[in-house]
Amino acid sequence: MVSLSSAMKILISACLLGQNVKYNGLNNSILDNQFIKRLQSLNLLIPICPEVDGGLSIPRVPVEIIKGRAIDKFGKDKTKHFQTGAKKAVILAKKFNIKYAVLKSKSPSCGSGFIYDGSFSHTLIQGDGITALALKKIGVQIFSEDNLDSLEKLVKLNGNL
Ligand code: SF4
Repeated sequence: MVSLSSAMKILISACLLGQNVKYNGLNNSILDNQFIKRLQSLNLLIPICPEVDGGLSIPRVPVEIIKGRAIDKFGKDKTKHFQTGAKKAVILAKKFNIKYAVLKSKSPSCGSGFIYDGSFSHTLIQGDGITALALKKIGVQIFSEDNLDSLEKLVKLNGNL
């Protein structure tokens, strides 16, 4: 059981929590995952969508990272929106003393370790999304929907669940 005094909040990509915030108006729900369900029932998850938080619409033109800039499929530079979303995520992380985040893999905002290469051809390269990188810089450990087991072990090890 969680003791409220030791409860820690975890940032999570809103699309993973079933919110229809993706560029195409859909989501990437992982709400069928038991660990995520448990965290949610304990009110430990704080959803963020850095692209919407940065002022972009739903739906929106897809973006990939090219030389550190967020460029949409028609060549428009959306970096300022991405940076605004990242700044808001950092403010939230500091406010709640966030140590862990579960962010959608491969996204130009949320991806950690691998992102698409800017050719819009589903080609992955090593790199981080703009928000994932900003959160890493303040010490937040990033997980994705692909390694929830690792986060679950860590949270249990630290006595938070
Ligand atoms: Fe999901 Fe992050 Fe993309 Fe928003 S910016 S739709 S939270 S992956």
